[in-house]
Amino acid sequence: MNLPTSPAASAALARPPNKLPRPNDPCWCGSGKKYKKCHQEPDAEFSKIERKRLEENRVRPGRVSPMRSVPDAIPKPDYWKTGQPSRGTGRTVRTPEEVVRMRSAGLAASRILRLAGAFVKPGITTDDIDAYVHELTIKEGGYPSPLNYRGFPKSVCTSVNEVICHGIPDDRKLLDGDIVNLDVTIFLDGVHGDCNATFFVGDVDEESRQLVRVTHECLMKGIEAVKPGRPISDIGRNIEQHADQYGYGVVRAYCGHGISETFHAPLQIPHYFDARSTTKMEVGMTFTIEPMIAMGTWEETTWDDDWTAVTRDLKRTAQFEHTILVTETGAEILTREP
Ligand code: MN
Ligand code: MN
Repeated sequence: MNLPTSPAASAALARPPNKLPRPNDPCWCGSGKKYKKCHQEPDAEFSKIERKRLEENRVRPGRVSPMRSVPDAIPKPDYWKTGQPSRGTGRTVRTPEEVVRMRSAGLAASRILRLAGAFVKPGITTDDIDAYVHELTIKEGGYPSPLNYRGFPKSVCTSVNEVICHGIPDDRKLLDGDIVNLDVTIFLDGVHGDCNATFFVGDVDEESRQLVRVTHECLMKGIEAVKPGRPISDIGRNIEQHADQYGYGVVRAYCGHGISETFHAPLQIPHYFDARSTTKMEVGMTFTIEPMIAMGTWEETTWDDDWTAVTRDLKRTAQFEHTILVTETGAEILTREP
């Protein structure tokens, strides 16, 4: 078979599916031939060209503006000055009174996220988004939880394309066709409300749209697994099963977490199936579910800033997050407007 060698000729190469057959399995194209006798070589050529394109278009660190300040009148979490959060009470189940406050923090977070998402468009910088989220959070009477949390320099995480999570807002302009995750957390009434969503910047290709749609489905399937008495591993099992159908990777390095008076409280919620997650869900627990789903590998690496996590293969990744409360019948989503 003649392989196209110039980039122009290679553009004619068909995009292979996400999950490739093994050499002796039938080819994905439906020719009936073995994969190794059909598309294996062109697929290898395709992925070489793709890798080069991804390298060239990778997100690069920009300039980070000075830390924003929060008015004196706003109640602040214990780490706001030192960057070091205290360990909290260690409790995983909330009192009814705490649940009331968790609801109001969750609602405020979801309002901010909705407005910030509507603000996304080509040409604005992620720092512009940070300024906006900072202002919206203060208007709600709350403190933007990411700000100085373990030294994080900004009020929101902005994660573009191959950035999995913890992207730091900077002077990079959003480009038409990007996808961007905004991760909003507010400290209000002594508790945190945490949610995130991935947004389209202008005109986004079909492949990325599917990734974002399926990632949202993964979050909802994870929430469906929440039932008192069931082990936490049920959540990741559901998520992984759904992602698998599309050949997508489930990021393993970052998990959902207990949340209340501390931002990251005890309870770890893996988004893949982990048989060791045997802790049983109990009525009154509050935690986040926040699957990060990758078009390719789940393996990640971190930038020199020690925050920005990116996929190793530079393929795109998306994420959605809710803070949830375990109820008698299942889950109440605290970060959703009625
Ligand atoms: Mn979050
Ligand atoms: Mn979270």
